[in-house]
Amino acid sequence: MTDPTRINVPRCRDDRIALARRLNPHLSSRDRAVAAIEGGPDAARKRIRTIDPVAYARTRNHLDGAITRLSPYIRHGVVSLAEVRDAVLSAAANQGEAEKMVQQLAWRDYWQRLHADLGNRIWDDLEDYKTGFQPSDYARDLPDDIARAETGVASMDHCLRQLIQTGWLHNHARLYLAAYVCHFRRVRWQAGAQFFLTHLLDGDPASNNLSWQWVASTFSHKPYYFNLDNMRRFCGPDVDVTDRNNRVFADTYEALHRRLFPRLDPPQPRQKKSERANTSAHRNGAQQTQTVQS
Ligand SMILES: Cc1cc2nc3c(=O)[nH]c(=O)nc-3n(C[C@H](O)[C@H](O)[C@H](O)COP(=O)(O)OP(=O)(O)OC[C@H]3O[C@@H](n4cnc5c(N)ncnc54)[C@H](O)[C@@H]3O)c2cc1C
Repeated sequence: MTDPTRINVPRCRDDRIALARRLNPHLSSRDRAVAAIEGGPDAARKRIRTIDPVAYARTRNHLDGAITRLSPYIRHGVVSLAEVRDAVLSAAANQGEAEKMVQQLAWRDYWQRLHADLGNRIWDDLEDYKTGFQPSDYARDLPDDIARAETGVASMDHCLRQLIQTGWLHNHARLYLAAYVCHFRRVRWQAGAQFFLTHLLDGDPASNNLSWQWVASTFSHKPYYFNLDNMRRFCGPDVDVTDRNNRVFADTYEALHRRLFPRLDPPQPRQKKSERANTSAHRNGAQQTQTVQS
């Protein structure tokens, strides 16, 4: 007699896709794309074996950097955070080399613990916005042009298409999109977070919602935003980052701050890296002097 609780999962990919669509008619009516990401522990371990912690630390903010793309496997329990951490530690010559990647794994762990504590409250604003606006100043729903990847802003449409078609995005692209939705379009972070969860293969309310809140400033001390110079540094050759097709971002941080957050005090001018190093050397020097004196 056949066991009624068992489903015979088809071996052929096309049949599996058809079965998944039958089992999730509501979801598949909104999202017809099928990701190319290969499932299962073998595929995950193949990725783990290619981890290069030094290249990761140097390039991880670049869209074409040496990131792992392990998030769907970690999210669905195919590999554990501990297994990835151990692999990183053995691939590194010393703990310092492993630090950047272990820190990122720790972020995931931290968000999970916070979610366990907060429960469904991760859908509420955890703090006030620090943007000069009230929640009621933000649109409740995601505009259609964003949902369809037809904003007319080339870099955003590129990231949105990637999200919808592949089910995965680089962390920096997620940050750009979240800042675009919250601050450039003034839409509530919840609408963007819901949209991400619909499409991401690693979609996870803890990492997702708390990261959106961090960008929005309802779980951080200031809003995250970016300008076109930042995109030019990190986007790589595949993304159109021309002024002409991304006008909304083509400004200095100071000008963008005035435009996006007009009710806030003007920001302090950003220091150049060399000046920052100088100031922090001064600060450290002052601290050292104080320590010696006290
Ligand atoms: C707006 C926004 C939404 C996000 N939504 C999700 C989500 O739904 N699910 C999800 O797993 N991650 C989410 N992240 C975190 C992060 O973007 C992804 O985990 C990461 O991009 C996955 O790519 P990777 O596996 O190559 O990461 P790597 O850089 O190679 O890092 C290795 C692993 O560390 C963990 N990790 C890395 N960075 C972060 C981070 N900032 N926060 C939490 N964990 C991290 C992930 O498990 C990741 O697989 C979100 C970030 C932002 C800014």
